Formats: sequence, C-alpha cells, structure tokens
Amino acid sequence: MPSLNDFASTKLENLTARGQRRELTDTARKAAGNAVRGNRDVISFCCNDYLNLSQHPAVKRAAQAAVEEFGVGSGASRLVTGNHPLFAQLETRLARLKGTDAALVFGAGYLANTGIIPSLVGAGDVVFADELSHACLMSGARMSDAQVHVFRHNDMAHLEELLTAHRGSARNALMVTDGVFSMDGDLAPLPQMVALANEHETWLMTDDAHGLGVIGGGHGSARAFGDVPLDIPLQMGTLSKAVGGFGGYVCASQPVIDLLKSRARTFVYSTGLPPANAAAAIAALEIIESDTDLIEKPVSNAAQFCHEAGLPAPQSPIVPVIIGDERDALGASHMLLDEGYLVTAIRPPTVPAGTARLRLTFMAEHDPEDISRLAEIIRERIIRRSAA
Ligand SMILES: *Cc1c(COP(=O)(O)O)cnc(C)c1O
Repeated sequence: MPSLNDFASTKLENLTARGQRRELTDTARKAAGNAVRGNRDVISFCCNDYLNLSQHPAVKRAAQAAVEEFGVGSGASRLVTGNHPLFAQLETRLARLKGTDAALVFGAGYLANTGIIPSLVGAGDVVFADELSHACLMSGARMSDAQVHVFRHNDMAHLEELLTAHRGSARNALMVTDGVFSMDGDLAPLPQMVALANEHETWLMTDDAHGLGVIGGGHGSARAFGDVPLDIPLQMGTLSKAVGGFGGYVCASQPVIDLLKSRARTFVYSTGLPPANAAAAIAALEIIESDTDLIEKPVSNAAQFCHEAGLPAPQSPIVPVIIGDERDALGASHMLLDEGYLVTAIRPPTVPAGTARLRLTFMAEHDPEDISRLAEIIRERIIRRSAA
C-alpha cells in the first residue's frame, strides 16, 4: 500500500496530465457582474446569481436585520432547536410559487437531493435518470440502493424503452431529471415525461436549480410549457442561484413533506440553515414574485449573446460553447480573462468526455455592450477557429 501522501500525489499527477486538476482561485464578487480575480477587475459571465439578488439592497438588509436580531448560527438541527419561525414563512412562499401544498427547506440543494431520494426509494425499487442529471441527483439515486437506469439525454424513446423493460418488476419507481440542465442550459421535455410517468406508474422529480426565478414567469420549469403548471409531484431546487443566497428546498404534497421531515437523513442529522439565510430568501422571493421585468432579463441577455455570436437561441440563461479538449477549453478561458471576462472552463467529469466547454451564464445586470464585445470575441476567436 502506498503512503497516503504518495497515493494523493500520484492521483494529482494523473489529473494534471489529463487537464482535470481543479484549483481554487480567490475571487471577490461585486455588484452587477463585476468581480476581482487576483488583482484584476473582471466581468463575470459564470455566476448563477442570475438576478443579482445576492447584492440587492433589500435582500442584504433582510439578512443583516436577521443577524442582528437572531444571531448567526441556528444552533441545532431543525428538529431540535434550529427551526426558526422564518422557515415556515419561507416554505409557504416556496410552495405558493411552485403551486404545491407544502415545501421543506434543507441546508443546500446537494443535501436536498441526497436526502429526498433515499427517503422515497430503496432496495427493490428503481430510478430512471437522465444521463446529464446533476451530480447530486445521481449521488442521491446511488445512495438509495434502488436500481438506477440512466437514459440518454432528453431521449424519450430511450426512457420509454427502459421503463418498459424495468418498471414492471420493481416495487416503487422514480424518474429524475434536471428541469433546466446545469451545463447545457436546455430544458427537459417535461410534458412528455409527465405522460410517461403516469403511464408507467412512476413518480417524477425535477431538479429546478436553474429554473426558479428565470423561466416559466419565475415559477420554474413546470411553468415553462404553458400557463397551467405541469403535474410534477416532487420539485426541488436551491436558494443559492437566482434566489441569490444559500440553502435548498423541495416542494411537494403535505404527506411527502411530512415523511421527509422524519426520514431525510440530511434534514434530520444536519444543522438548520442560519435564520439570516431564510430572511434573505424571503426578501428575494418577494422580488421574484413581483418584478416580472427583472426575471425576463437573464434569458433575454443570453438571447442577445447567442444571436450576436451566431449560436442557436437559448432556452435559459445558460449557454454552453463546446470546445472538446480540456486544455483547449482552459486556453479559451485564459484568453477571455486577458480580455477582462471571467468565463470558467467546465471539464470532465462534470461534463461527458470530449465535451469540455465554456459555460456562460447571463445575469440581469449585464451591460449590453459587454455582451456584444464578449459575443464578438467568442465568435471570431473561438467558434470560427474551431470550425476552421
Ligand atoms: C447547484 C445545483 C445543485 C446544488 O445546489 P446547492 O444549493 O448549490 O447545493 C443541485 N442541482 C443542480 C442542477 C444544480 O445546478
């Protein structure tokens, strides 16, 4: 057996050789997409703070007031003494926005997914998952001990084939997908998935981390296909993206929420979110529910970029520019940084091998002139070059 340090060093060398080593870079985020990286002022096109609510005066004030009044930490699991009354307010608001009976707030989106799925399915059950589902949906599915069948991305014929082959013999079945895919920005074909779920007696769960606040009139992906919300019994998401703060949640019926309170290990055995996070999220949701112009902006900014860069129209504020090789993607990211734009390279295993990319995200407060200049650089120096 190698020493622990030799083991780690060899692993790191392999990651470096494959262009897959990851390192932290200090970045100070500021208002309107501005950031300081190293000692450079840059404009970030890689934050998920789509509505810039992390910097909104009303949201900051709500968090500050809650810290003053209630302190910083929540002190214990919500089942012990950590259930601040602000959580009930926040959960009522989330349930209203998603059109469900009830909601439950978790410490983070990752904790929500890894808590929810093993509470609902286990050995003898089956999970059907889109291959591009977020890592924490996959973790939750694996932790559940249910058999996991992965279908090709958004391929409804493949999903139906797997349902036909594997649904019958299992006891309970769950279908999981991102509503808006985090690395590709496209939507899941939810109307078809609802129909397949009904036809094959399978529960449907969406991860709407990138939907809330930016698509479907701010309600998220269940409203992106028409004004009547789709019947999706499990809709989870995060408070850390368009909501601008931190925390995770799930919206569902009252019995499902009550079951999760007793059974989701990441809820039961993890300290409650600090009250200030709940206060900030309530203030942010108030803005999301009332400012319809603001919630249209991230997608319209993405549309401006795609139009000018010569890319297909986007379905969300997320726009991938696929490059292929890991090192080329890193090179493109460094080139953009030299131009003053922060756009991180996303590499395997976050995305499939051979699809390393720039992942651009558009925020409400991006300046149209910056968007134009970025589109021109990407069109001329990345897209045109890789086509040549
Ligand atoms: C970010 C993200 C999560 C995790 O949420 P956190 O609150 O950051 O833990 C889950 N699912 C998707 C699709 C995400 O993009």
